[in-house]
Amino acid sequence: MFKINTIIKDAFDIINDKENLKLAADIIKNGGTVAFPTETVYGLGANALDVNAVSKIFKAKGRPQDNPLIVHVDSFDMIYSLVEDFCENAKKLAQKFWPGPLTIILKRSKLVPSEVSAGLDTVAIRMPSNEIARKLISLSKTPIAAPSANLSGSPSPTTSEHVISDLNGRVDMILNSYSSTVGLESTVISLAGEKPRLLRPGFVTLDELKDILGEVEVDKAVFSSISNDAVVNAPGMKYKHYAPKATVKIVKSSFEDFILYVNNKNEEGTAALVFNGEGQRLSVPFVEYGKQNDSQNQAAHLFDALRQLDKINAKIVYARCPSDEGIGLAVTNRLFKAAGFEVIEL
Ligand code: AMP
Ligand code: MG
Repeated sequence: MFKINTIIKDAFDIINDKENLKLAADIIKNGGTVAFPTETVYGLGANALDVNAVSKIFKAKGRPQDNPLIVHVDSFDMIYSLVEDFCENAKKLAQKFWPGPLTIILKRSKLVPSEVSAGLDTVAIRMPSNEIARKLISLSKTPIAAPSANLSGSPSPTTSEHVISDLNGRVDMILNSYSSTVGLESTVISLAGEKPRLLRPGFVTLDELKDILGEVEVDKAVFSSISNDAVVNAPGMKYKHYAPKATVKIVKSSFEDFILYVNNKNEEGTAALVFNGEGQRLSVPFVEYGKQNDSQNQAAHLFDALRQLDKINAKIVYARCPSDEGIGLAVTNRLFKAAGFEVIEL
């Protein structure tokens, strides 16, 4: 079905790679799709104000139409026309966390096509800090709608290799750049309801949001699975996301109990997802996903680790349970989603 000739060009530096960035911006201006690096994960972008361009994102990813997109901006001027009201709380959050890995949901203006917001009356906005992303937006002179640049259902891409493996031949251009520094998708907070509500945890933590906003409700999608036909605040949260092909089960236990439990398994395709340095005690194939007491390090490596599990043909994966403190809440949320919230307590 897809026979797009995908242009792949370097974008490591806004000066040396300026011509490549100009070409990418021309593609956006002409209604095409460009995958680009951001500090959270790679995004698949198109002109947010062009319905036809936006529809190409859904097609390329195989993304369900009811899963809305985040609109990326590089300046405050771009925001005012997209929202009904850039409220005081939004201004406070923007001042503290933008540019950076926080997405704010507000009531949308008529300028935003309903396709971008999957028919909702709100729009999700983020000002990324990655300088390649910012340059692409400013050269394109338009807000860029961009979900993660992976095939729908697979783990979000944190390297250009991940993007190429999922989307080569399905998009107009892929910018080849550094690995994403954060490694998990942005924190999503809604300011469109009565009370601020955390829809997706990320690098900007719940406590940091509470420091600015006072009370913040946490959506139940953060902690539990939701059926596919449910009506929820964060439509994307109901889909099985971030998952390798294998069945993932989280094991809540000490490391010693984990070793005993997993080393006794002899089903074909058994593998383990563990912290750095733990693999040597295992007698099954394993992938390591970061340092045990460092949630930020786990965030940066988790999605690559999930993809590696596919490469080693894992069928059943037993995963060490991360801490859920601070950024750990985001790591926990993504890993639990990959596991369909299945936890084994020893
Ligand atoms: P992705 O960038 O692939 O992680 O997808 C963007 C995510 O942002 C979606 O899955 C939604 O959970 C969330 N999102 C985007 N727009 C809205 C919105 N208007 N209301 C609620 N959630 C949104
Ligand atoms: Mg995504």
